[in-house]
Amino acid sequence: MKKSPMKLIVAITLIVIALLVLIVVLVNQNSGSFGQVFDDAPSIEGQPTLGDPDAPVTIVEFGDYKCPGCKAWNEAFVPQLEADYVESGQVQIAYVNTMFQGEESRLASLAAEIVYEQNPDVYWDFHNALFAAQPEGQGVWVTEDRIEEIANSVDGVDTEALMEDIENNTKIDELERDSEMVSDYNVNSTPSIMVNNIMIDGEETFNYEFIQEAIESELGE
Ligand code: CA
Repeated sequence: MKKSPMKLIVAITLIVIALLVLIVVLVNQNSGSFGQVFDDAPSIEGQPTLGDPDAPVTIVEFGDYKCPGCKAWNEAFVPQLEADYVESGQVQIAYVNTMFQGEESRLASLAAEIVYEQNPDVYWDFHNALFAAQPEGQGVWVTEDRIEEIANSVDGVDTEALMEDIENNTKIDELERDSEMVSDYNVNSTPSIMVNNIMIDGEETFNYEFIQEAIESELGE
């Protein structure tokens, strides 16, 4: 009989703690999807970029050639951002491989890193050709044969050297660098983007006005 009040207090305390934990988790989830602000913008050293390297705002796209949303983002949002902010020198865009879909993600990313090293000027053409080659549906499509075909379709890519470098995994360090960034910035879905140090992920990645607000606040407008 004497123990019952104590048990009740313990039970209430546990419930209160559980509720507090739940609130903290929910609040963190919200701040995740509405733009977590990091202390620093990601370093884009060694990453392919589009636009003026001295642009005041850098957008880092965490993308995956296997991800349908990334294809859509690449084909709709990148050209829009180029027209609105990149051509005027206000924004540069960098791309970081986010390999969430296994060997196909890895192979496409490796090929892109090798092409970037071969000739940075043709990187974006190859990058766009990879996304263009992504079929509808979830079937396997990134194979060495397909990479070879895509490489042959892009002017300026040395396909023979590319296929040899793929065999030798020459740019594995770059893939590791990208994976570290994915982990450092807690990227858990693709595409996710960072506008300087502001993370935009989930459905907000497809909200152009939201992205514009972030860019314009960083530009001080
Ligand atoms: Ca990279």
